[in-house]
Amino acid sequence: MTRKSEIIFNEANKYIPNGVSSPMRTFSLVGGDPIILESAKGTKIIDVDGREYTDFLSGFGAIFLGHSREEISQAVAAQLDKGLVVGLSTEIEKELARKIVESTPAIDKLRFVVSGSEAVMTALRIARAYTDRKYFVRFVGSYHGHADALLAQPGGNVAVAVKGTTNGVAENNVIMCEYNNSEQLRQIFEERGHEIAAVIVEPFATNMGFVKPHANFHQDIRQLCTDYGSLFIFDEVVTGFRFRFGGVSALLGVDPDLTTFGKIIGGGAPVGAYGGKEKFMKLVEIGNKVFQSGTFAGNPITMAAGNAALDLMAKPGFYEAMDEKGALLEKEIKQNFEKYDIPFHFTRFGALSGIAFRRSAADMQNYSDVKQQEYEIYKNVHLAMREKGFLMAPSLEEPIFLNDAHTNDDIIRFAEALAVSIAEQIK
Ligand code: PMP
Repeated sequence: MTRKSEIIFNEANKYIPNGVSSPMRTFSLVGGDPIILESAKGTKIIDVDGREYTDFLSGFGAIFLGHSREEISQAVAAQLDKGLVVGLSTEIEKELARKIVESTPAIDKLRFVVSGSEAVMTALRIARAYTDRKYFVRFVGSYHGHADALLAQPGGNVAVAVKGTTNGVAENNVIMCEYNNSEQLRQIFEERGHEIAAVIVEPFATNMGFVKPHANFHQDIRQLCTDYGSLFIFDEVVTGFRFRFGGVSALLGVDPDLTTFGKIIGGGAPVGAYGGKEKFMKLVEIGNKVFQSGTFAGNPITMAAGNAALDLMAKPGFYEAMDEKGALLEKEIKQNFEKYDIPFHFTRFGALSGIAFRRSAADMQNYSDVKQQEYEIYKNVHLAMREKGFLMAPSLEEPIFLNDAHTNDDIIRFAEALAVSIAEQIK
């Protein structure tokens, strides 16, 4: 019998390229039929055919408090009665900005936009306008959204999704550097430092699985940017509010010039934000150099959801509990890997983690390491996990996203199923 998912997906293909509004949803990297969502609650996702999954994708990291979290739904419902988009400012917009600014020392002011892509695009625009320079440095394998400049020389999932690298992309003023390679970055600055407007980096590389920075990596970037008058942009679209209440920069002792946010701060509603030091943020003020606007920027629904989410996350013990979930996942995965003789390496920071699907006990350092993984194994593991009722990312180059709704039982069952699925593949 043809599944309802399949029928809807085939119909969608008539109206939407590939039937999806974002390429990863085709599951083309891992195979398997598309999942058409019926509803999601807590950690459970139900598709239109009634199949249930325990979710470890968490809306690509945007869902941090579980699906359909009551407090967030109520805040959104209350706002619905007061108006959707009215083209005016609201108090809840000021409140959400206040919470972010007060919790993130690197930020004096910020503005909301509608996606992480827009936040990054605008941060880069500010850096170019402030320095009057064209070039910026990005790290191989990184992803910072789909703004033109940021798509030049894409890695990973983007490179798979499109043929060629810069089709339709207006300008290519990017200089690529290897992640975690301070020496290479130093050479780049020695040769071209006075042309470089900015360096953009993720605190942890979360778009090539999960790769941690070397001890001094961010400090080295900070120093080079200071020495050459370039701006240091910290892309916290994934990491913001994930490890502490605020940007992770404060935890890592890093002082970026501009920071971008997305995902978590919108409580599951569409969001992006960019912020930083007053002297840079001044550039978007009326009559100054940089333009940014948006019909839906700071929209009341997102602001209501974001405030409700942040209020839950501000409660004492919230981040300790998230870390405990991460620690449980680590313990269970490591135990099971030993039990089933799996030679893969698990890496974690707080509630974010990743598995290197390569037969090595070493942490991955950069995109060359990422590419050494056994992509075919992940593909089959992803499908086996779906059969067992677990949803993982449709790509090896995404982390495992825990959220507040995950119970110990979810985590223990997931770790066991994952080890069994991998063991079946590597025998
Ligand atoms: N920066 C990073 C680090 C991201 O991971 C993403 C999306 N996953 C973006 C920017 C773009 O955000 P959005 O999808 O909201 O445009």
